[in-house]
Amino acid sequence: MNKIATEHQVEKKHLFINGERVEAASYASLYAPYSEEKIAAVAMADEQLTKRAIDAAYEAQEVIGDMPAFERAKILEKVVELLKERAEEAAKIIALESSKPMMFAKAEVDRTIETYKFAAEEAKRIQGEMIPFDAASGGVGRIGYTLRESIGVIGAITPFNFPLNLVAHKVGPAIAAGNSIVLKPASQTPLSAFFIADLFEAAGLPAGVLNVVTGPGSIVGDQIVQDDRVSMVTFTGSPSVGTEIKKKAGLKKTTLELGSNAALIIDKDIEIDRLLDRCTMGAFSNQGQVCISLQRVYVHEQLYDEFIEKFERSARRLKLGDPLDEDTYVSSLIAKEELERSLLWIEEAKQNGAEVIAGGKVQGNVLEPTIIVNADRGLKVSCQEVFAPLVVVNSVTSVEEAVNLVNDSRFGLQAGIYTNNVKHALYASKKLHVGGVIINDVPTYRVDQMPYGGVKDSGTGREGVKYAVEEMTEMKLVVWNEE
Ligand code: NAP
Repeated sequence: MNKIATEHQVEKKHLFINGERVEAASYASLYAPYSEEKIAAVAMADEQLTKRAIDAAYEAQEVIGDMPAFERAKILEKVVELLKERAEEAAKIIALESSKPMMFAKAEVDRTIETYKFAAEEAKRIQGEMIPFDAASGGVGRIGYTLRESIGVIGAITPFNFPLNLVAHKVGPAIAAGNSIVLKPASQTPLSAFFIADLFEAAGLPAGVLNVVTGPGSIVGDQIVQDDRVSMVTFTGSPSVGTEIKKKAGLKKTTLELGSNAALIIDKDIEIDRLLDRCTMGAFSNQGQVCISLQRVYVHEQLYDEFIEKFERSARRLKLGDPLDEDTYVSSLIAKEELERSLLWIEEAKQNGAEVIAGGKVQGNVLEPTIIVNADRGLKVSCQEVFAPLVVVNSVTSVEEAVNLVNDSRFGLQAGIYTNNVKHALYASKKLHVGGVIINDVPTYRVDQMPYGGVKDSGTGREGVKYAVEEMTEMKLVVWNEE
């Protein structure tokens, strides 16, 4: 399908720097991935404008750093209130720019409200601890404690797949902890970021504390990563960009929330009907463009035939189409290149003996929910991050075998196991090499206060508001000599 050359006037979105809308020398057309309609003209920042945003954040760091916790909490509470009032509008923006179906876009807005609420609460709980100095012979007559201080300017670089809530996971804790921010959203989803900046402005956040700079990652993102005045980079995105950032960030603190090929184990004693809806959501919600999307399922051989028969039926029932329709479950991928890549990976699987039992074809510009069986572990659909509505199902003879297969991956974000056997659950929770083990649910499970992050190529550091606040503050020790 060709891009619709809609020449009607669309809104120009300027940069948000130091509380002002700043014009750039050039603007890029933003198209809705599903309808291919032009939806905005987005400012493309260059080096000078990116520097201006960092200058503003650097100037504002004391303003927010000195602001009492109750005032920071009040601003975050106000954002919660405003977002509740404008929830429908926020969901439509997400659906339009990212092609996330409305039912999931609304769920993202609900989660974002909770994330900012957690941030407001966490702003009041930033604390250190007393150190028992007299536990050391040299510590007698001393009193000491730790403080947690804001870190300064935080560079936040975010992906397209949760354009509101993943911004909230960086902006919320940064403000709770008294930091200023330069935010660089994904080029395909800048509108959600501008929308939340408007709400922060209306909530009374001082100018310069939050700055939104749009433009190519290789220019804007790169400059944020390399500027010495930025104390920490918090990045969510692909492993390849994350690796580059890590190399360039030098001694800056970095949190890297990267990708995965998340897996689920289904033990032999499970009622399949109990987990079908969860597997369907895990594999196909947001078109599989979720960092913990269910990509690999290892089912006990006794349940394998029943599972694939029922899972196939469930996948075929899903409604494909326009993300703005309330009953659409699966819509288009973020870009045509992603659709083409997915089709190539499916073809590679077929050429190498795997069988596509559902989907594998395109309707309009939407990839059908796809289930593949008998796929070798070395195929792209098995060992790389698919980031499409595609899941690979294999049969296993034991939980031990399944755990080894789950661990046979360069990634390690989350894994799930359905079992009624306590020993098997304990074994899996101990042996799975991932950041989070989910027992009796899919690996796609996440709520926003839990510690979240991966091992291996899935990244370093944790999000989940309390844990992000910890990463976004420095510890300082104070020691008093009583004499
Ligand atoms: P991406 O291509 O890595 O982009 C992420 C962000 O990095 C975008 O803002 C991008 O800007 C920017 N960027 C690109 N090149 C850069 C550079 N050289 N220096 C600095 N920044 C640069 O990822 P995506 O396609 O948007 O998102 C999908 C990936 O995110 C998947 O791998 C998914 O698993 C991962 N993810 C992880 C989590 C988690 O919590 N672990 C959550 C969600 C998503 P442009 O858009 O301008 O290129």
